[in-house]
Parts: sequence; structure tokens; C-alpha cells
Amino acid sequence: MPPRKEHPAKGWAAALDRTSRVRTDIQQDSSENQQRLNRQTARAYGLKIRPGYDFSEPGKSASKPITRRELERGINAVVEEKAVEALLVSSVDRLSRRGMRHISEMLDAVDAVGGRIIFNKGNLDSSQPASQAIIAFLSEQAKDEASTLSWRIETWREGCRLKGKWTGRHPYGYLVVDGRLAPHPDEAPVVRRMVADFLERQPARQIAIALNEAGIPAPAAAKAAQIRAEGREPKQGMSTWWSTQAVARLLRNPVLVGWARHNGRIVLGPDGEPVSFGEGILTPGVHARVLAEMERRTAIVRQSPTKTREVGGRTGGGRPSRYLLVGTARCSGCAYAMSANSNNSSDWRGHYYECGAATGGRTCPASAYIQVEKADWEVMRQLRTRLAAMEPDDPAIGAMAERWRELTLPEGEGERAALQSRLDAVRGRIVDLEEARYVRGEFATADDIARWDGMMARLKTQRDVVLQELEELGPPPDFDLTTLRATYSSEVWDATPLPQRRKLLQVAVAKVLISSSNRRKLPAADRVRVVLVGEEGQEQPL
Ligand SMILES: [Zn+2]
Repeated sequence: MPPRKEHPAKGWAAALDRTSRVRTDIQQDSSENQQRLNRQTARAYGLKIRPGYDFSEPGKSASKPITRRELERGINAVVEEKAVEALLVSSVDRLSRRGMRHISEMLDAVDAVGGRIIFNKGNLDSSQPASQAIIAFLSEQAKDEASTLSWRIETWREGCRLKGKWTGRHPYGYLVVDGRLAPHPDEAPVVRRMVADFLERQPARQIAIALNEAGIPAPAAAKAAQIRAEGREPKQGMSTWWSTQAVARLLRNPVLVGWARHNGRIVLGPDGEPVSFGEGILTPGVHARVLAEMERRTAIVRQSPTKTREVGGRTGGGRPSRYLLVGTARCSGCAYAMSANSNNSSDWRGHYYECGAATGGRTCPASAYIQVEKADWEVMRQLRTRLAAMEPDDPAIGAMAERWRELTLPEGEGERAALQSRLDAVRGRIVDLEEARYVRGEFATADDIARWDGMMARLKTQRDVVLQELEELGPPPDFDLTTLRATYSSEVWDATPLPQRRKLLQVAVAKVLISSSNRRKLPAADRVRVVLVGEEGQEQPL
């Protein structure tokens, strides 16, 4: 190899930082932090940052072939202008996410004039042969990440899940101590009491009333307190009262035995057994009794002509509801469910939704009332607009997929869940192993590499076996944003029978809030608000 050229601006450096607006880049450091890292690099390498040679790219994507003027200026400072010998960047993915080719072009140009690019992360200096292979690996990884970063975060979460590490906010009834669940001193006794009452055949509604009368804050209130403790403001409209649904949701949640649910499935370990996230409040046996009792009651409700209806099911009289929003619409004035009525006119104008507080023997401070057709139309309009603006990787899609599975119960899902968990686990281990060798340099000797090859081959065989089994199971029921949009498109919607519509609406819509027009002629758009699944205040990890 010919000796390296000496760059005329030896000892001088330029610094580049870049942040992306794209949400999948959430792991990125702030500009300030990157600038700090660059100054740290300069000190470590005995370089001085030349005044005026701080290049900053806020809100710039590095995965698209767009002009990046600041990056060009940085490279030119080394290559053309020769004002600095080095360009400092905090990590490879800050420089580019367009892969090895894009990065090599820059490295070659810089190298030709005796310059270099130095990355703080991994302490990589492009003039050092030892660093070059790692930069090559990382630049491909950064490219891959641009498309699969969310998958990688997911893998990390999955990794945590498989190790039984709780990464979210604490669920009701629990403390989270070092990633493990432990019964909460105040909330766990509340849960045990609820379970005892429920198993003694008390209706969920009665349990909710008793909790409210005892002044025990609902999970949503506990969550709001937690958000405030983190120094943020919780969303408005989070219910501080226990509802029948809140009680039922809590009782159904596998977290009661220390298990976690992910996309509607219980998280299983590689052995196919549920992963424990700590000390459960209930034993699996007791929880099984709770679920059996719940199933028994649901069956009764389904058979009984007088009991409360299930959403999407039949009304009290056993007739299918004739109204789309019954069970979904709530009065903003009092949070009570809206009921549908007609004033004996055969005309559509005679059908309306109204606040149900009065029927329930309560008074509402701002009773809502709206024509059925107007409300239904406005709900669909908002739903379509919201879905049209949604990105395919929006977290709400996961929540909607869960609802969709609950409502449609596709066959073979249990088996698929187990296989999918195993596949994710194996993929996580493959990534770990790659990083151990190429990033952390844990496999250095020839013996190590032979061992690494063996381990990698075994993992890939495992992965292929699982993929094969998944393939034999057939394609997964397709649920994605496109399907969802199509489901609610006016062509399909108009052709869908009402009972089916009522059911499908539950997939994407958590609730619809309707407020009073206050005796003014407020258009429906101003007083109907669709709350999508995944964005409702109290639904989050219970
Ligand atoms: Zn009301």
C-alpha cells in the first residue's frame, strides 16, 4: 500500500451533526449531544475545530437521495477547499443511511487527499485499516436500519420481553422494579378484592360502583398521576371513574399472573411457555377461574333478551341494533353512553342519538343530541380522513390489529403466535451475534470465528425451520392499513350490512364523543370527535 498523503490542513477539523424528523429515528442523539461528541473526538485526536466549520443538518433524512448541502460542504472542506483534514461525525448513521456505496464514495474522495472521517461512536477513523471493515459493516447496517429500525426496536423490546423485562409503564396493581413486576402495596389488594367479588358472582358493574363509592381511583387516574410524576400533562378526558369495561378489562388481563400480552397474544418463551415478568398478583389457576366466569357471563348475556348488550351484538330486545353508533358514542357533557331514538316519524330526520344520562337517572350538564344520519356520516368522514393521513408504521395499527383479531378470531392464530415469537427470538439472537463479532469485536481469533460460524449456522437453521412451519400454516390473515382503508371506503362500507358495520367500526374506533350544540347551529364536524383505537387515554397498558 502506498504511504498516505499528508493533508495540508493537518490538525484542523470540521464537525457535522444531523437529526432526522422521521419518527423511526427515535434513537438518535440531539444535535447538541452530537456536537458535544464531536468536540470530544477533536480533543481525543488532538484536532481543533476550525471556526465556521460546524455543519448542522436538522430534520434531514439520510436515507433518501436528496441534496445535503451541509454534508457536501463538510466533505468539500476536506477534499476541495483543503481547509481541514478531518470531518467529525458522531456515528456512521449520522453521516449517511444510503449504504456502503454512498459512504465509500465519500471515504475514497477524502482518502485521496490524505483526509479522514472520524466517528465518535466506536472510535472509528477512516484512515485506519482496522476501522474500515467496521465502517463498511455499519454503513450497510445503517441502510438496513433506515427500513427496519422499527423492527429493530421491536426486536429489542421482544428481547426484553423474552427475558421477562417489563419496558412499559407500570400496569395497574403493580410496581415495576428493575424491569420486574411486583405487587403494588395499595393497588394489588384492590385487584384481589375485585377478583374475590367477581368470583362470588358480583356483576362487574356493581364492582365498579363499589370502587367509585369507596373513592378508589381508576387505572386511568393512577396513570394520569404517574404521567404527572414524570413531569408531563396527561391528555384531557381521561376517566377517573371505574367503569364496567375498566373492571372487565382489568380482570381479563394476563398481567394479573405476571404475563404480558403483545399484539393480542401472550408472550411466549422459546419453550412455548408464557414468559414471567415478575411476581403475579394471582396464580394462573385463579385467573383461569376468572376467565371461565367471564366466559360464562358473556354466554348468559348473549342468550338473555334483557341483559346489557355487547357492542356489535344485539340490543336489549334481542334485535340487532339499527344504529351504527350505539355502544360507541358518548355524550361529552357527562361521558354517558348515547342512546338512539326516533320520534315515530318514518323520515330519517326523526332518528337521533341523545345523551343517555336521563334514562340512567342522572342529570347531564350539557346534554348532546344529534341526528343519526349526520353523526354517522361525520364519523365515517373523520375516520377516513384520519386513516388516509396515517403512516403504515403508526403504533395505532398494532392496537387495531389486536382489536381485529379479537373480533374476527382467525383460525390457527395460537400456533402462529407461538411460531412468530420463536422466529423473533431467533432473529434477535442473529442480530446479537452479528454485533458481537462485527461491532463489539468479541470474536477475534481463528478459533473464535470457527465457533461463531457454527453458532450462526445453527441459528440460521433454526430460523429456516420456523419460517418453513410458518409457511405451512399459510399466509397470515392480512391486516394492514390498506385493508383497513378499503374496509371503511364508501364503496365497501355502503355494501356492508349494519351488524357487520357495527362490528368493524370497533376495530379502528375506540369511541365517539358528541357534544351539545348549545342551542346554536354548530355543524356536526365541530361537535363529533372520533377517538381512534390506540389513542384513547385509559386503554393503555392496564
Ligand atoms: Zn350527557
